[in-house]
Amino acid sequence: MKNLTVTDWYRQFVRTQVQPGDLCIDATAGNGNDTALLCQLTGPTGQVLAFDIQEKALSSARRRLDALGLSDNCRLILDSHEFMENYAAPESVSCITFNLGYLPGSDHRTSTHAASTLRALASGLSLLKPGGLMTVCIYSGRDTGFEERDAVLSFVRTLDSRKYLVIQSEYVNRPNHPPIPVLIIRLPPEPVI
Ligand code: SAM
Repeated sequence: MKNLTVTDWYRQFVRTQVQPGDLCIDATAGNGNDTALLCQLTGPTGQVLAFDIQEKALSSARRRLDALGLSDNCRLILDSHEFMENYAAPESVSCITFNLGYLPGSDHRTSTHAASTLRALASGLSLLKPGGLMTVCIYSGRDTGFEERDAVLSFVRTLDSRKYLVIQSEYVNRPNHPPIPVLIIRLPPEPVI
């Protein structure tokens, strides 16, 4: 098996989850890698909402989508992900991806931050449909991300186990604060027998 990066890891679950026609959200569009994957999977009958607070990130994402011919079913939104509830109906979203941290090569001050990330996670959970998937990739190291990492990991542990399945993975033999991928599955209702 080839090396499994953290993005390879959570994208396997995204690929399994997302079906043509689904509504999906990329909460941190950045250069558009996850946005492009979601657009491919939802296809022309689906829709992807992709959020970022930086114009230059959305321009970069737009270029990537255009190059791949995937722009038609994507709405790029210059707004903080904590307001995603304003853009989709409750319980309507199949998959939400969070790739926390900063845009590679850009100012670390435009990184995601604990307080707004927690609000965004709560907002996203209200949009997930039963059976929906949220992926959260947490980065920390050097000057950023520790407070956010601890806040997110504490938050996900408080989620009601009757309503959500939460799985945190760990690169156990990697030095220097490896990324931490987390899956949150909104459990479908138990079948009535
Ligand atoms: N998934 C992206 C990709 O494929 O290129 C990388 C995302 S990058 C690690 C994190 C992004 O989150 C940055 O582009 C940053 O501008 C964005 N960001 C930071 N705070 C945000 C917020 N409150 N709402 C939405 N996006 C935010």
